Amino acid sequence: MRKLLIIFLLAALGAQAATPPIYYLLWFDTEDYIEPAADDAALRLAQELTQRGIKATFKVVGEKARVLEQRKRTDVVAALKQHDIGYHSNYHSIHPAPAEYLNGKGMIDGEQEFAMRELSGFQAVEKLFSMRPSCYGQPGNSWGPQANKVLRQWGARVYMDDGGQVGYDQQPFWFGSMLYIFNLGPNAMRANLDKPELLPDATRAFDRAVDRLRATGGVIQTYYHPTEFVTTEFWDGVNFRHGANPERSDWKRPNLRSKESSERAFQLFLAFIDHVRKTPGVKIITAREAIDVFQPREQPATLDSARKLAENIEVHDGFSPADQLLALLGVAPRHVDGPLRRAATTLKAQEIPRAAFDRAKQDAIRAIQQFGRLPDSVWIGSQELDLPDFAATLAADSGTGNVQIRNGNLAMERRIGTNAAKLYNWVIHPEGYAPENLLELARLQAWTLKPAKLR
Ligand SMILES: [Zn+2]
Repeated sequence: MRKLLIIFLLAALGAQAATPPIYYLLWFDTEDYIEPAADDAALRLAQELTQRGIKATFKVVGEKARVLEQRKRTDVVAALKQHDIGYHSNYHSIHPAPAEYLNGKGMIDGEQEFAMRELSGFQAVEKLFSMRPSCYGQPGNSWGPQANKVLRQWGARVYMDDGGQVGYDQQPFWFGSMLYIFNLGPNAMRANLDKPELLPDATRAFDRAVDRLRATGGVIQTYYHPTEFVTTEFWDGVNFRHGANPERSDWKRPNLRSKESSERAFQLFLAFIDHVRKTPGVKIITAREAIDVFQPREQPATLDSARKLAENIEVHDGFSPADQLLALLGVAPRHVDGPLRRAATTLKAQEIPRAAFDRAKQDAIRAIQQFGRLPDSVWIGSQELDLPDFAATLAADSGTGNVQIRNGNLAMERRIGTNAAKLYNWVIHPEGYAPENLLELARLQAWTLKPAKLR
C-alpha cells in the first residue's frame, strides 16, 4: 500500500514537472464612483468568487476608495479584501486623464507629474484596504511610460491592463522594470454579459488559448468592471465624453440594467468562470502572486548574447538590449531605464583611438550608476556617438587596435505601437487625440523590454 502511494506521488510529481504551468488572471476595474449600485456589484462579484475559492484582483480607483469610505461600505471593503487589490488611477476619467497630462512631458518631469497627481489616490486605496496595491493599470487606454518608475518606487511591481502601445508576443513581459501583463491578444477573452448564445464562443476562446499554451506554459486573462453588471452604459462616457469635464454637481448617473438583465449578466459571468475553474492544468492567480511565477527580472546577459547587439538592438536569448549593454560594459545586473531622448551621432570618423573609446565606456558606466538609466549618447572628444551606435560598436569591438564604428539597428522599437490616433482612441480622450510623444518615449524605453520567463 505504502509502495503504491509512493509510486503514485512520484508519478504526480513527474506529471507536474512535465506540464508547463498555465496561469489565469481575473481582474476588475473597480472605478465607478458615481453609481452606488456599482458598489453592490463589486460586493456580489467578490463574494461569489470567494465562495468558489477563486481570488481575483480588484484594481480600485482612488476616488472610488474615498466614496466607499464615505458611503460606509465596510461590507464591500471586507469582501474585496478577500482578493488582491490593485490601483486604477486617482480619478480615472476626470480630465486630464493620465495620457493627457503625460503627453508633451519627458520621462523625468512626466514621472514627477504622475507622482503628484496619483500619490493621494494610491494612498487612499492602500489605506482603505490596509494593503499596498500590487499592480496598476491605466484608465481606458490612457497609457504613458512615465508611470513605470513611480509605481516601482511605490512598491507596485505589476502593470496589469490591456492596450496596444507595447507588447511582446501576446504574453507577459518586462518593461521599465515592471512586470507587464498587457496586450495578450487572443489570450485575453471574456463572456458577453448580454448574449447567452455567445457563451460557448467565450469558453471556446478560452479552451483554444489553453491549447495554444499547453506546450510552453503562459498566461491568460479576463477582465470586467463591476459597474457593467448593473448599468447599460459606462458611468464615465455619460459625463466625461471627448474632453467634457462637468462639475461634480452636474454629474449624471448611468442608466441601470433591469433586475433580470443584471441577474443574467452575473449568471453568464459565473458560468464562464466555472468553466475556467474546472479546466485541468489552469491555475488562477492574482497580480500579487504573478510576480513569483516569473523568473527575477535581473539576470546577467551572457557575452555571446550581448555580442548580437552588433547586428541588431533587440532581445537576444531572452535578454533585453539594456541587459546586453550592461554585460558588455561589465556592469552587474541592475535596474536601468532607457535614455531620455534620441541623440544623433555627430562623429565623422569611421574609426577612433581605443583610449577615446575607453573613456566613453567609463562615462557610460558612470551615467548608469549615477542616474539608473542609459545615456542618450557618449562623447568622443567634442563629437557624439548616439546610444545605438555606441552599443553596436561596443558589441562588435575586437578589443585591440583602433575601434571601428558600427551603426546600431534599433530592431526592438518595432514592438512599440505606431498609430497614436488609434491606440489612444477612447471615448474620454478628446476626439482625434494622438499623443505621438508618448509612443516616442516608449520607443526609447524599449531598451528595457524583454519577455517574462516562467519559473
Ligand atoms: Zn477603467
